[in-house]
Amino acid sequence: MEIIVDRAKCTSLGICESLAPDVFEVDDNGELVLKAATVPDGLRDDVEAAIAGCPTEALRLRD
Ligand code: SF4
Repeated sequence: MEIIVDRAKCTSLGICESLAPDVFEVDDNGELVLKAATVPDGLRDDVEAAIAGCPTEALRLRD
């Protein structure tokens, strides 16, 4: 599953990072960085929590 970020919606608050720190990181420039392009083994629940927790609905998965 590919992780898709709608950069126009992302406000870089980092809630996704707090829920799935192995996958999402807001860098020093306030830019969201994907540490993995696809959902890593064993982290599906964390990524889904991050998607659900994103206040701007900027995250989704694609097959
Ligand atoms: S939680 Fe959503 S808006 Fe916040 S940094 Fe992550 S993708 Fe962007």
